[in-house]
Order: sequence, then C-alpha cells, then structure tokens
Amino acid sequence: MKRHVSISLRLTMWFGVMFFLGWVLFGTAMWLNLSRTLRGERHQTLARRVDRLQELLLKNESEDEKGRYQDFNDFAHATGNGLAEILRSDGTRAYPSPSVAAAAFPWPSVTEGGPEKFVHVQSAGQTYWALVRPFSINGKPLFLLVAAPESGNLLVLQSFWKGLLASVPIVLFISSAAGYWVSLRALAPVDKITATARSISIRNLSDRLPVTDTGDELQRLAETCNAMLERLESAVNQIKRFTADASHELRGPLSFARTVSEIALRNPEVDARSRKAFEDIVDEATKASVLLEEMLTLARADSATFSGVLGPVDLAGVVNEACESVRPLADARGLSLVVFCSLEEATVMGDSSSLRRMIWVLLDNALKYTDSPGRIEVSLDESVSRAILTIRDTGIGIAPKDMPHIFDRFYRADPSRSQVDGTGLGLAIAKWIAEIHHADLSVTSEECYGSAFTVSFPLHAA
Ligand code: ADP
Repeated sequence: MKRHVSISLRLTMWFGVMFFLGWVLFGTAMWLNLSRTLRGERHQTLARRVDRLQELLLKNESEDEKGRYQDFNDFAHATGNGLAEILRSDGTRAYPSPSVAAAAFPWPSVTEGGPEKFVHVQSAGQTYWALVRPFSINGKPLFLLVAAPESGNLLVLQSFWKGLLASVPIVLFISSAAGYWVSLRALAPVDKITATARSISIRNLSDRLPVTDTGDELQRLAETCNAMLERLESAVNQIKRFTADASHELRGPLSFARTVSEIALRNPEVDARSRKAFEDIVDEATKASVLLEEMLTLARADSATFSGVLGPVDLAGVVNEACESVRPLADARGLSLVVFCSLEEATVMGDSSSLRRMIWVLLDNALKYTDSPGRIEVSLDESVSRAILTIRDTGIGIAPKDMPHIFDRFYRADPSRSQVDGTGLGLAIAKWIAEIHHADLSVTSEECYGSAFTVSFPLHAA
C-alpha cells in the first residue's frame, strides 16, 4: 500500500537531514582543522626542543665527549622524559641512551643527507611524534632525535568527538523543529486554499480562493484555480439556465397533450384502442409533468432563488395535515399509518408549502417502498430545542451501498428491488428544503426491515 507523507513532514525531514549533514560536514572540517593545529603545535614543540639541544651542543663545541654527553643527558631528562638520542649516520648511538625509555624506543632510521623529518611512531600501544634533524659537530655528521607522546592531542580530539556526538540529538531536534516551523509557515496559505476549495460546491461556485499578494507559486496556484472556477461557474450557469428554461418551456406542451387526451377520453364514441392510447398519454404526461416540476424546483434551488418567505409555521399542523392527505392512499395499499405527535405546538421558521412538499416526499417514499401489510409511523417530538420529525416504515429498506447516494439527483436504488415509478429527485428536493429551513435530514435503514427518515428543525421561540 502506498504511504502518504504530508509535504510539511517531508519538508521537516529534508530540512532535518540537510541541517544534520551540514552539521556533520562542519564538525568534520573542525575536527580536521583541530587535529592539524594540534599536530603543528606538537611539531613546533619538538622543533624548539631540538633547537635548544642544538644550541647547547654548539655552545659547548669545544668540550670533550664526556662533558658533551653530560650536557645531552641533562637536557634529555630536563625536557622530554629522557626521550632523546644522538645517532651517527650509520644509525648507531653516538652517546649512550639517556634513559631506559629512550633505549627501548623504536627510533626511526636515519639517512645521511636527508632533510629534517617528523615521523609517526608506535611504541607500547601509544603513538608518538619523533623529530629527526641532521646536525654536525666538529665536522662530524650526527642526527639529533627527540620524541613526545601524542596522547594529549588524542585526548583533546576524543573529547571534541564526544562533544560532537553528544550534540547529535540536540542538533536533530533543533533542525527538525526549525524545519517544521518553516514548513508550517510556508504551507499556511495552502491550508487556507484547501479549506476554501473544499467548501466550494455547486451551490457556492461564485466563492473564490484567497489570493495572497506575494507573487510566488502559491499566488499563481490560487489565481489559476480561481480562473478555473470562473469558467466552471459560467458553464454551470449556462446548464442551469438551459434546464430551467427547457423545463419551463416543456410544461405548456405537456399539459396541452394531457388536457387534450383527457377531453378525448370523455368522448364515449372513442374506440377501445384509441382509449388505451389516450390513457397512456395521460399517464406519461403526468409522470413527465412531475419530473419537469421537480427539475424546475432543483434548478431554482441551484440558483439559490428561494421564492417563498420564511415565517413562523406550526409544524405539528403541517405534519397532521400531510398525514391525513395520504391516509386514503395508505388505506388503499393496505398499510397502517400511525401518527404520534407529543408536541401540542411546534413552531419553526419556514415556508408551509415547502414543508408540506418535503413531508409529502418522505411519506410518498414510505408508501412506495413498503409492501402490504406494513406500517408507517410518523412522530413529532422535542429534543434540546429542536423539533424531531421521524417517518419510519417497515418497507424494503435501503442497501448499505445505496445509502451514501440516495440524496443524489436521479439516483434510484437497484430497480429489481422495487417495481415502483419514480424520478430519483424526491430526496434531493427534500434535502434542499431541509437546508433552507436550517434543518438536518438524515436516514437510518436496515435492508428488508425498513427505514427511518429524521428531520431535526430548530424550534422557533415564540
Ligand atoms: P424516487 O423517485 O426513486 O423515490 P427519491 O429521491 O425519493 O427518488 O429516492 C431515491 C431512492 O432512495 C429511491 O429510488 C429508493 O431506492 C430509496 N428510498 C427512498 N426512500 C425509501 C424508503 N422509505 N424505503 C426504501 N428505499 C427508499
């Protein structure tokens, strides 16, 4: 399965990784620099020491060998723990080693005529720097050698590394937090655009995305989306106008065809075949009129032109009236219609004819999708300052796969489950009417056991 990682998280990770790599590079450069400086210092110390020995030997050049050895021995013990030697060019000692350590030390080899050199030496598990300098006294070629352990330098380098490692979590935390903050700031306009884009539907196509005057990619994105919305809005408006005009224009010819057919049916001389044809025309024209009427209603809903005026309406009265008007139909279909109205008065802000139409859609569906002997229960109760109207039936119910779509226009559940006529627009209209009354229309249903449509209205305080 593909994993989705948000841009802010990706930016945070990138920022963290880049910052961390930069920090590692910086740390390594610092470490190299420090180790070079420490090595340079160590070399300078050794060079200074050999300078002093050289000076000492030259100062006393006229001394005998014994006196010179004494000077060398004193110098070796006074300066570098006795780690010094004076060798001949064949590598043998010109004087005895001034200390046991010097005698056991693996001194580097000497070569006549070679330049002064610093050599890295390992001895007894420790590393040392040794300096070999060619020198001559009384015309005799000799080599002065001094050495010093590198452990002090290594300790400094080690503690530097430890410091670097210890700061890894802190650097990671700071770099990630900084990355997150930067990404949040950079992406804040995207969140605004997303929220607005999400709220735009066919009802509010005239809304536009917020455009920041930053001249960056986000401004261009918002402007491009707005231009697209502009084009969509004008295309949708054309379709709406066409639907409304076509529905309006077709009403006349349809009612004309129906009226003519009804008049023809009143003529007793019409033969049986023509009668059947006229009856079919009346039937189909009636269905088409219902469809046109519903399309016209939804076209008006889309253009947000609700022509009625909302005022205080006695919902209980409208419910009872609607129930009584469908009672004969229920009786004719062998269904029992029961009305429970626990509210003596339930005043809502609304339009009574729209409310009647919504209740009628729900009752008509309950009648259509419930087989005899069945029961339709209508109740009106109060709950937390809301009037709750429920229309419950013991009909065929709604399959879970159809539930998310039943309020969509022209959606009809699998026709093999019910052989009833319909346009698939009733619930879309009911939903729109609920919306203009600030009411919530919802449904619960169990296939083969029935459905319950609930409308929750805000009660109007008298
Ligand atoms: P229709 O004209 O088809 O009744 P609606 O928009 O009123 O159109 O309903 C859409 C679909 O929802 C119906 O086709 C039907 O499948 C389902 N439906 C609506 N009400 C009920 C109900 N009370 N019981 C079972 N199914 C229902």
